[in-house]
Order: sequence, then structure tokens, then C-alpha cells
Amino acid sequence: MKLRVVYDNEAKEGLKSDWGFSCLIESEDRKLLFDTGASGKILAYNMQQLGLRKEDLEIIALSHEHWDHVGGLDAVLHPGVAVYLPRSFSRRLKEEVAREADVFEVSEPRDIIPGVHTTGELGGGIREQSLVLDAEEGVVVLTGCAHPGLENILEAATVFGELYGVIGGFHGFDKLESLQGLELIIPCHCTVRKKEILEMYPEKTVRCGAGVEIEI
Ligand SMILES: [Zn+2]
Ligand SMILES: [Zn+2]
Repeated sequence: MKLRVVYDNEAKEGLKSDWGFSCLIESEDRKLLFDTGASGKILAYNMQQLGLRKEDLEIIALSHEHWDHVGGLDAVLHPGVAVYLPRSFSRRLKEEVAREADVFEVSEPRDIIPGVHTTGELGGGIREQSLVLDAEEGVVVLTGCAHPGLENILEAATVFGELYGVIGGFHGFDKLESLQGLELIIPCHCTVRKKEILEMYPEKTVRCGAGVEIEI
């Protein structure tokens, strides 16, 4: 399985950076986009630079209803795409998506495609789903902002296997020592303590940014 960061607060040369997050998952021939960043324009630009067309996307999964994760939706919706979103999303957004795509509401943990699972909706405030990806060595968790608390998301992900890695926005997560057991740590987007995590785990981390590719 291959992950490609498409939208992030940082970017590699040739791609645009912007506050938000989006990551492509490629599993065999199937392409799933997790989150869409804040701007459809920037998402479309980065996708084009990476050689991706919206029609290539079979599935879009949205972590939570914040503008920096759902704002780019208009650039990727197309007939036939399946959109997995938390059941708690506003009716307005669900209806908007349903006009152009097939909506699947998520509440409990479940499989999306073979090897790609969702934690289901977590959190008491901003409800959020994270994805859990099967890698050879264990599971890799992909988060949007981790509003429910990264430690709670990681705990929920263990139903799908032993934790191997985590990538995405960690938001205000500060129990940095608790990541010790992981082999792959990629703090992206809104991670407040990104710099400290990179310094604390130099062999396990990758500096995130649009254009970064990770094989798992
Ligand atoms: Zn965010
Ligand atoms: Zn958020």
C-alpha cells in the first residue's frame, strides 16, 4: 500500500502548501482519498502535479467536518465516487455530497476496502473518524486532526491489529513518550509539537508535506 500526502501545511517543491490535510491511499489498483484540504483549487493543483485525476478516485473518506478537511470536496466529487463520512455530519453537507456522489455514513468501526478500515466516529466534541491501514508489520493509523485525542484514536485502532505507525494531524497531542512503541511516526498538518516529535524520534519520523510518499 502506498500513501501520498496531497495537501498539507508544508509542501515539497512544485506543490502548494496550505493549512489543511489530504492524503491519497493506493492499494493495488484502488485509490482512496482521505480528506480534501481547505481549497478545491489547491487540491486540484496538487493532484494535477502528482498526475492524479478526480475520476481515478473510487472512494473519498472525510475525517471530520472542519473546513480544512472538507473544503476541497468540490474539486474531487464526481458521479460514482463513494464518500464515507461520520454520521454526525451536518445534514446540509450530507445533502450536498449526495447530489454528486454516493454517501456512506459511518458510526461504528468497519472495513472500507480490504486492508483499509475506519475507527468509526470517535470523540465527544468534534466527532471524527480515522483510518486504519493494514501494513505488513501491523496497522498504520491515518488521522485528520485527531480532535478525539490521539491516544484514544490509537487505542480504538488496536481492534484491527498491532500498532505499527501513525500519520496525520495530531493537534494538541502532548504525551510524546507514549509514541515510543511505534516504528513510523509522521506528524502533519496541525500537529502543535511537530518539531519536538521529529527531534525525539529521528529514526522513526518523516517530515510531512504535500508530495511526500510513504510505502507501508
Ligand atoms: Zn485540521
Ligand atoms: Zn479539525
